[in-house]
Amino acid sequence: MKYYSTRHIAPNASLQEAVIKGLAPDRGLYMPEKINKLSPDFFDKIGNLSLTDIAKIVSEKFFGEDIDKEKLDAIAIEALNFDIPLKKVEEGIYVLELFHGPTFAFKDVGARFMSRMLSYFVKEQHHDSVKVLVATSGDTGSAVANGFLGVEGIQVFVLYPSGKVSEIQEAQFTTLGQNIVALEIAGTFDDCQALVKSAFVDEELNKKMYLTSANSINIARFLPQSIYYFYAYAQLAKQQLEDNVVVAVPSGNLGNLAAGLFAKRMGLPVKRFIAANNRNDVFYEYLNSGNYHPRASIQTIANAMDVGNPSNFERILDLYNQSHKAIQHDISGKTYSDEEIKNTIRTVYEKTGYLLDPHGACAYQALKDEKKPDESGIFLATAHPAKFKETVEECIGQNVEVPERLSAFMQRKKQAVQLSNDYNAFKKTLFNLT
Ligand SMILES: *Cc1c(COP(=O)(O)O)cnc(C)c1O
Repeated sequence: MKYYSTRHIAPNASLQEAVIKGLAPDRGLYMPEKINKLSPDFFDKIGNLSLTDIAKIVSEKFFGEDIDKEKLDAIAIEALNFDIPLKKVEEGIYVLELFHGPTFAFKDVGARFMSRMLSYFVKEQHHDSVKVLVATSGDTGSAVANGFLGVEGIQVFVLYPSGKVSEIQEAQFTTLGQNIVALEIAGTFDDCQALVKSAFVDEELNKKMYLTSANSINIARFLPQSIYYFYAYAQLAKQQLEDNVVVAVPSGNLGNLAAGLFAKRMGLPVKRFIAANNRNDVFYEYLNSGNYHPRASIQTIANAMDVGNPSNFERILDLYNQSHKAIQHDISGKTYSDEEIKNTIRTVYEKTGYLLDPHGACAYQALKDEKKPDESGIFLATAHPAKFKETVEECIGQNVEVPERLSAFMQRKKQAVQLSNDYNAFKKTLFNLT
């Protein structure tokens, strides 16, 4: 399979090139040149398939031409070796819980899939080692660090702004050791990102080591997210509730939503999607007006969705041939303030006993507001509520228990290299630590 860039200037890439490069050289995003459909037979029996069965079948549709079956199956099984249950919240509304992985957020799926695939290509090519650089404001760093932990042939450097990530987030990437190095930067998230960008264009550095990124635009992180949409549908089909399905997705960089749109293109009978935004509502605005005005992000309590210029927007445009009308046909949008999000968390907890995190709360409310009576609605819960303990406790006026696996990170010893935001010091550290 070849991958083309959404900007159509860079040459087409093989899967391996697209995974190692991440972003195309023309700064576009890679797209597969064709999207394979699943057979009607697959949908007939989907209610009897396990997550692992579905992961293997869907992965083969994406990557089967480029990775042999046995290896690909192993990657898929390892990446999705945790529960993704669908639970009923109230009549007609179901939640797909994507937060039972190592860092309790949905990014674990993509990060784990990508790490295994990258490791496979490193071994195939007999490369010495690949260094992954990732700048994080919190959640991406923890998913990538845990996804790559102990994976052969890869060393990960997580750059994060000192004092600007939550304690629990920091613990999730500074206590791991092994092939994970945390770099605590005296500066902002933008400083971290600037350091990573400078490293990628530094010729001297790139001659000495193989550098790559692990951000959410990488196809090996992005495409596998389609898998759980099929599994959500399967769990409804098992109960014969699969008619008229609509799915609400808490959206930031739009990777999760775009993966759902891929699943639909592959034949998944989802009627339509609802993109739930917090106050960072550029996509909502685009859906309603056809005008796209990226802007600086604003801080909200659903902070993993604080994105002012969503990177996967280009993928959605490309998938629909730039047609606003076609996009509007498949996706509607909603946007919520912090106050509204808090209200939702409180009300749903009081009425149903189900505890939402701020991201899932946006999607729940969007579904509630948009779903018609004859539709079955699924919303995606992208993070465990305990990751946002203070906010959630304030909403419900009760203590929120932190799962042992999450609090265990806090008990471990922090190991981080302290650096200024000076590029030369960062570069020297990369040389010294590899
Ligand atoms: C990253 C993230 C999102 C947003 O997902 P996108 O794919 O960037 O749209 C939503 N919720 C949580 C908890 C996240 O970590």
